Amino acid sequence: MIELDEAKRFVLERVTALEPEEWPIEKSSGCVVATHVVAREAVPGFVNSSMDGYTLRASDTATGSARLRITDSIHAGDVSSLQLEAGHAMRIMTGAPLPVGADCVCMIEEAIVDDDFVTIPRALRPGDFVRQVGEDTAVGQTLFSPGDELNASGVGVLAGQGFHSVLVHRRPRVGVLSTGNELAQGEEPLGPGQIRDLNRPLLLALLGESGCLPIDLGTARDTREAITDSLRQAVDTCDAVISTGGVSVGDVDFVKFVIADLGGGDARWMQVAIKPGKPFAFGVVGPRQTPIFGLPGNPVSTRVSFEMFVRPALRTLAGHRVIERLALDAVLDVPLERPSDGKVHLVHVKVTWGEDGNLRVTDSMRRGSHLLNAIVDANAIAVVARGAVCAAGDRVRVVILDADSLGVSR
Ligand code: AMP
Ligand code: MG
Repeated sequence: MIELDEAKRFVLERVTALEPEEWPIEKSSGCVVATHVVAREAVPGFVNSSMDGYTLRASDTATGSARLRITDSIHAGDVSSLQLEAGHAMRIMTGAPLPVGADCVCMIEEAIVDDDFVTIPRALRPGDFVRQVGEDTAVGQTLFSPGDELNASGVGVLAGQGFHSVLVHRRPRVGVLSTGNELAQGEEPLGPGQIRDLNRPLLLALLGESGCLPIDLGTARDTREAITDSLRQAVDTCDAVISTGGVSVGDVDFVKFVIADLGGGDARWMQVAIKPGKPFAFGVVGPRQTPIFGLPGNPVSTRVSFEMFVRPALRTLAGHRVIERLALDAVLDVPLERPSDGKVHLVHVKVTWGEDGNLRVTDSMRRGSHLLNAIVDANAIAVVARGAVCAAGDRVRVVILDADSLGVSR
């Protein structure tokens, strides 16, 4: 058996970020920028009002108040054809450009209007309620650097520059293949000994959640030829391929051999000291060094192996700097059985914030690599180190699978 870290290192040393591509900005949230993006326009582009109100000269209010003649009204999108003279004011709406001669704004709630006059009841300073040119973004400013992940605000910032596309690392196209003679096809009734394919839909969903483009490669029977054909074809069209089943020590577990054949020398079949998820095969294949992950067939093992090996590698392909999930310490409300088998146990658990401000493990799911339904409510995986004592009240490291579940509920 090899350590989890060693298996992970073997994978991560063999994957690098995908070639950058120009991508429409509205589709690039969550993508990683691959270039320096420099501002070409100032934002704001002109001096404008930050309030609905009256624009005037601050010096007119030096005595503590002023009664000014209203000479124009300016809406956002308009430009006044008049200059603002001393003793005058103009009605102005948020986002409208200040007229020449004005230097501040009095908000509408403070202004007292009578006919063509407005009384400003207090002294204002130049710049009050005024947005200056370049206050948010100056021309020439670096907006993004290689490795920065675009979020929704970033997409808005790019739109503010009039950019329609941006150079990012592509979302990885990731194929998913299930192997096994026992897998029923489609919705047909199950024959004797048949099971439904849980892994493929599970992985396709995980890929979507992980910002990848999932590609359904269907199923392959347990023959070297069928598996070889499916994986060969997949390597031509995908940036990475995940298969499940066939990596253990069974008589027809051929996936590990096929990955070794295709990977030529550098591929590796590993027994990793984790539970679940011990058997694992990995190699990079073909001219583009496409990673192929051979995950175990049991669905919970597949789920755990995806977290441990596949997700960090896919985030590397996508150019992310941060490739691991958030991991936090949590206090156990329930004991976790102490492992004594030389493996790190990766236990699906439910965590929630306690009233004491600590993250707490409130539930530990029934364990069994074939018990997928048992973990459906888990929002974290506890990493129970070898020999760790895991009594109630002890602390354990948890990898958060669903951060939203730790927010405030209704
Ligand atoms: P294997 O790793 O191929 O020996 O499979 C281990 C266990 O996982 C067996 O009980 C398989 O029937 C089961 N299994 C394999 N593939 C799938 C799948 N796609 N969906 C659900 N169970 C599976
Ligand atoms: Mg099998």
